[in-house]
Amino acid sequence: MIPYGKQFVQEDDIQAVIEVLRSDWLTTGPKVTEFEKLVAEYVEAKHAVAVSSGTAALHCAMYAAGVSPGDEVIAPPITFAATTNAVIYQGGTPVFVDVDPNTLLLDPVKVEEKISCKTKAIIAVDYTGHPCNYDALKRIADRHGIFLIADACHSLGAKFKGKKAGTLADMTVFSFHPVKHITTGEGGMIVTSNLALAKRIQQFRNHGIDSDYRQREREGSWYYHMVDLGYNYRISDIQCALGITQLKKLPAFLKRRREIAGYYDKCLLGMKSIRPLSVSNDVTHAYHLYVVRIDFKSLGKQRTTLFQQLREKEIGVNVHYIPVHLHPYYRRKLGTGRGLCPIAETAYEEIISLPIFPALDENKMNQCIDALILSCA
Ligand SMILES: *Cc1c(COP(=O)(O)O)cnc(C)c1O
Repeated sequence: MIPYGKQFVQEDDIQAVIEVLRSDWLTTGPKVTEFEKLVAEYVEAKHAVAVSSGTAALHCAMYAAGVSPGDEVIAPPITFAATTNAVIYQGGTPVFVDVDPNTLLLDPVKVEEKISCKTKAIIAVDYTGHPCNYDALKRIADRHGIFLIADACHSLGAKFKGKKAGTLADMTVFSFHPVKHITTGEGGMIVTSNLALAKRIQQFRNHGIDSDYRQREREGSWYYHMVDLGYNYRISDIQCALGITQLKKLPAFLKRRREIAGYYDKCLLGMKSIRPLSVSNDVTHAYHLYVVRIDFKSLGKQRTTLFQQLREKEIGVNVHYIPVHLHPYYRRKLGTGRGLCPIAETAYEEIISLPIFPALDENKMNQCIDALILSCA
């Protein structure tokens, strides 16, 4: 089966991990700091804090934004559930706002309509690797004095109007899960240009303690304060060593992802019933996903049938995502359901993700696109 996404790990990545295993620091050591510095430099942000997953990074961002019971956080429904789960971890309430029909990204006009006196933050999700309209979102956030947080788990290396994902919001969250642009096995990062936010996050990832082990060792002190309730969201040096070698390959990974997307686009140009998601002229896309919308009604075929046909041909197509507000937990917890975000719900019925990852070669790429076109002819 050709998967929809897959890591690209080479011998130098493996060697880097082995070296850490022979060193003194397996966690909270120099590789963590080095990885943070390199990611901050790459995305052109001032501070970066590495954590154990993208989900942990989202939770840290919610904490740093001060989200607490009674607060509302605006988010789109077309995302992985982790985005809004993080709001609930802090006792906040996610408020789902519908998406733009062409890009399936948070619609700023609708965001404005849903702002209330309880709104604490907006989480924008750069779905598929296409940055949201951060000009419009930042204007809204500033006008209401609330935080803008970017879930950029799909958009490492993407740009909006020439500015990198990582500089477009108050805090930006990345994931290093194996299907994402670069991997640490599991891992995540928060980047920000606000030192106070970075410090709050550093504390939160380490039980709410106001110093770390290396700091105390340098100062020859055993004393520390636990000043707030935090978690163990630390990432290991073993993981960060992998992140460092992976980051060197990011430009090549992005180039390959863009080539694949360009090829798919070209092949689908003449297809009446298949439409790739729109790409705004303002952005440089990072293509974590390649999503097409299929007009199943005019095709006279159900998505499940197409899905099964492609899976039988070993094409690991997928669906990103089931709108979060339709999950049983959310229906139960928030009383959400069908009709809340009609554009997202309609789009969900029509989307399918094609395989896209750096190691997808010419042959496999053709296998995927030929199978799709044949099934939709
Ligand atoms: C992958 C992902 C996450 C969660 O990241 P993990 O590292 O798997 O915890 C959150 N949001 C989005 C949009 C993602 O794609």
